[in-house]
Amino acid sequence: MKYLGVLFVFLFIFSVAVLYIVIGEGDLVNIIDVTEHEESLYDDTKNNGTADNFLNLSVLQPLPPVSVSEVVISENWHEFTVYVYDFESNDIFHGKLDDYLCGVVFAEMPSTFEVEALKAQAVAARSYYVYKTLNSSENERELHRGADICTDPTHCKAYISYEKARNKWGEEYISPLWGKVEKAVTDTSGQIIVYESEPAIAVFHAISNKNTESAENIWGGNVPYLVSVPTSESENADIITNFSTIIEYNSEELKSKLISNGFRGDFDKNPEKWIGSIVLNSSGRVDNIEINSKLISGNRMREIFSLRSADFTLEYKKTDDKFIFSVKGYGHGVGMSQYGANLMAREGKSYKDILLWYYAGVDIINIYEKPFP
Ligand SMILES: [Zn+2]
Repeated sequence: MKYLGVLFVFLFIFSVAVLYIVIGEGDLVNIIDVTEHEESLYDDTKNNGTADNFLNLSVLQPLPPVSVSEVVISENWHEFTVYVYDFESNDIFHGKLDDYLCGVVFAEMPSTFEVEALKAQAVAARSYYVYKTLNSSENERELHRGADICTDPTHCKAYISYEKARNKWGEEYISPLWGKVEKAVTDTSGQIIVYESEPAIAVFHAISNKNTESAENIWGGNVPYLVSVPTSESENADIITNFSTIIEYNSEELKSKLISNGFRGDFDKNPEKWIGSIVLNSSGRVDNIEINSKLISGNRMREIFSLRSADFTLEYKKTDDKFIFSVKGYGHGVGMSQYGANLMAREGKSYKDILLWYYAGVDIINIYEKPFP
């Protein structure tokens, strides 16, 4: 009888070991994930901010509704381990949610910003993480090697570890700023924004001009809380680094860039005649521009000519043979404006005021708290 017990324990250990070897590390992460169910410095010298948080179009496709009260609200979030795919090293690392968020806020927003703006960024990043965790498609999970989220700012959220930031900018400079970001994250611990009880895709951008942009104008799908709202950057342009930028191309460069990007149209011998009317959309950005009698969208122009935003004017200066783009703002313009958030914080607004302003009609809830408020 005694030997039978020993044999049983041995068999159990053996089968677990075999299972681990067969599944492999990447898949194991995926299985754990599913079963637990477990989403500059702008002083421009020490930049730890990124301008844009582009959305994959698929993210905006209709998804099965997730009820916050049933799925999200859980004391278990305290225990949750976040799995993050590092797109640069191709590794997966893991940690507690708020530790991960410190690295995100530090990478996404200048940590010299006001505390209330950093808090708003922390809540937006947490909301995005929760959304992603609950809604990631199979394809996305595969792309993330089974992890919840990745560190590619053009796909999910930028991230930097304390060690990396310290090595890059030095401990003396980084330590107090990291402490400030950490406080913004822990002071808002558990808070996310929801729209009609579903976690919000809290996208954001660096700088708008007079209005933010709607998700519909950028990605084609209407998202009720990602609509255009007024913002005050244009009134404070003098204190925002690179609020306005100029980009110039000569006529040959302009023409070849258009052609290499699939533009099919005849170019008049006289470049003065190339540009026709420019139509603005409701947010004040370029909806479309007429070039040689063909229409190109403002966003496409932004991509082709590497403009910081689709809020631009275009003129031709014959004497220098120069097409001059005068651009205002930075980023796609959807959701919270980071500079706008900082300006609101400077005026004494709280992170809640900021979030409720930039994400229309949302509520702020705490995923650790029961019952559902
Ligand atoms: Zn990703």
